[in-house]
Amino acid sequence: MHPFTYTRVSDTGEAVNAGHRGGRYIAGGTTLVDLMRETVEHPESLVDISGLPLREVTVTERGGLRIGALVTMAEAAAHPKVRTLYPVISEALELSASAQLRNMATVGGNIMQRTRCTYFRDVTAACNKREPGSGCAALHGFNRSHAILGTSESCVATHPSDAAVAFAALEAQVHLLGPGGGRRIPFADFLLRPGNTPDREQALRRGELITAVEIPALPRPLKSGYLKVRDRQSYEFALTSAAVALHLRGGLIREAKVAVGGVGTVPWKLPAVEQHLLGERPSESLWEAAAAKATAGTRPLEHNRFKVELLRRTVERQLRIVGGTK
Ligand code: SF4
Repeated sequence: MHPFTYTRVSDTGEAVNAGHRGGRYIAGGTTLVDLMRETVEHPESLVDISGLPLREVTVTERGGLRIGALVTMAEAAAHPKVRTLYPVISEALELSASAQLRNMATVGGNIMQRTRCTYFRDVTAACNKREPGSGCAALHGFNRSHAILGTSESCVATHPSDAAVAFAALEAQVHLLGPGGGRRIPFADFLLRPGNTPDREQALRRGELITAVEIPALPRPLKSGYLKVRDRQSYEFALTSAAVALHLRGGLIREAKVAVGGVGTVPWKLPAVEQHLLGERPSESLWEAAAAKATAGTRPLEHNRFKVELLRRTVERQLRIVGGTK
């Protein structure tokens, strides 16, 4: 591990100042410390933000939910408001990592986590994300777990977070605090597709700190859930996943939120699937027809062609689970 300085801060202003001077924020440390040990990352300065007062889950005035950035994954998953208002978030968190990691890792850190592409973590391999301009070993290497949506010639790595898929589906907002003050941005704009700069993964300005993730109010009753398909049942990343939320009134679907994971360079929202569902009555044929739209624009690689059909089936199955069939 390369040498680094360590500062523990106790208020957000102090944190932002230290971040603006080039410090890297650390809270649970479940990703960053691993990457430092593997010499994939070598920050010169760490700013420990784990003591900041960002650990609350609150219902907003409009009936949405605000989850503080330092709420642990385990706390968020078990919180009564998260469980009752947005079970899709609880399920996504509970299907992530191990119980030990969920007790340490935070919601803010979860959406900031870096890809599980094996070449990214192998410092002897070419990787534009780790070392811009060095190439991408996955493009013509073993790319079974890689992305089929949102890829570029520079990078084809998936985003690993399950919770981020739920946040993308629900059209969450990310609250940020920087040297210039606070702002919030749509989740869809927070995580960046690789393009020509896969090393730049979030729309963060220098020194900006995530303070919370806010989920907007949605019409009730709302049924939601998360399905994760993987090679083994626990402690494994998604091959495909689907976050679905549906509001039905008068027997018809009035609101539909759908996003998928394990297939995109960022969590992938599916507006064509959502549009197909609106105003319709749940049925087997509706789920099938809507899920068929999930694979538009996919660009599979040599070893992950199976993901296209797996994606369609994952979406269809989760629509059926959440929406039922009448
Ligand atoms: Fe690096 Fe992205 Fe290529 Fe993986 S897919 S080797 S992270 S550039």
